[in-house]
Amino acid sequence: MSVRLYGPIRELHTLAGDGAPRRREAMRETGKAENAGIAVSNGRVLDVGSWGTLRRRFADAERVAVDGELVTPGFVDPHTHLVWSGDRSDEFLRRCAGESYQEIAKAGGGIASTMRAVASASVATLAAETLERARLLLRLGTTTIEVKASYGSSVESCKRELDAVARVRRKAEQRVVVTFMGAHVVPPGWSRAKWIRALVDDLLPLVAAHRAKVSFQDAFCEEGAFSVAECRRVLDAGRRIGLVPKLHCDEFSALGGVEMACQLGAASCDHLLVSGKREFAALARSETMAVVMPGTAFFLNKPYARARAMVDTGCALALGSDFNPGSAMTPSMLFAMGLAVSRMGLSAEEALCAATVNAAHALRGAVPQPLGTLSSGAPADFCAWRVASLKELVYGFAFLRPSAVFISGRRVN
Ligand SMILES: [Zn+2]
Repeated sequence: MSVRLYGPIRELHTLAGDGAPRRREAMRETGKAENAGIAVSNGRVLDVGSWGTLRRRFADAERVAVDGELVTPGFVDPHTHLVWSGDRSDEFLRRCAGESYQEIAKAGGGIASTMRAVASASVATLAAETLERARLLLRLGTTTIEVKASYGSSVESCKRELDAVARVRRKAEQRVVVTFMGAHVVPPGWSRAKWIRALVDDLLPLVAAHRAKVSFQDAFCEEGAFSVAECRRVLDAGRRIGLVPKLHCDEFSALGGVEMACQLGAASCDHLLVSGKREFAALARSETMAVVMPGTAFFLNKPYARARAMVDTGCALALGSDFNPGSAMTPSMLFAMGLAVSRMGLSAEEALCAATVNAAHALRGAVPQPLGTLSSGAPADFCAWRVASLKELVYGFAFLRPSAVFISGRRVN
């Protein structure tokens, strides 16, 4: 058995725990160790502990310098719309000048404009643009990415999007988890009823069998997008053929999607900007992860989700980037952590937990466990940072990047 020993590490946060999603006080336990090391075999963590002990135990192991004083698990981003084409910088400036997201969407912009750009892009172009974004995320320390195929506007363009994702899955350095989101908005040229029928009858069987290996199905439960009943119909149809539900809900209006998603056993409810006590209670009672994405609120200049209250109510909270061209040009998970601390009242420890181990639980069933930790058996995915402490890491959220990124023990950046 060949073993590699990574270290010495001045401050290591392992996030080791009992394998369950973290709630309440458990979110503050980061498994901090000083003057530590990580022993890795076959891309998995074999042991973590004091550098002196590991050096004696694995005296013959190859030693690898980590190139940084602080080591954290690699970030898990459980929510991106990484596959897109086109440019919405003009919309951003219109919004900054006072137009609302919904007004721009009604005028033919928004998600529909990205759908048109995707419809006219080749599979090769879509894959190349998406891979470039995956490389950016790697430089920012994200070692697992959920990728939503979410801008298809016909059976044909949804299929091309998935073809592109399949290429990205093969070529990206990161672990890539795939979600199909045909129920994003009703595409231009379709009636609502016809699109839902096409989704259920034609697209979902194609998606479930596609070589992109789709694990999840997502839907946008929102005024101007889909109702609770429509989302339930589509998600339930997907669930019956093995696609685990996820739901975009409570971004602009609380329609009751959270309760529905929890009943369906969704892996996560995402956004939750306008959720309140009732939704928090439903999430806290369920196994459904609450995914909040402060980069979206920041980018849209909206009030933030009440993450502090969610944690205190017992929700299992995760952070995501929501990286997409319309509402979140905010790809960095460290940036999300910084906003979670400075705008949402989380501690640095809670933010790290939400960006790693809890984020991995939002991708349950589709990632090797215990992903998002550096405990025995976990994939050896980690970032080294040239800062002295977790405090300094969060303090530098607006500009820091890892000095080294490792996936399965291999340095990839
Ligand atoms: Zn989204």
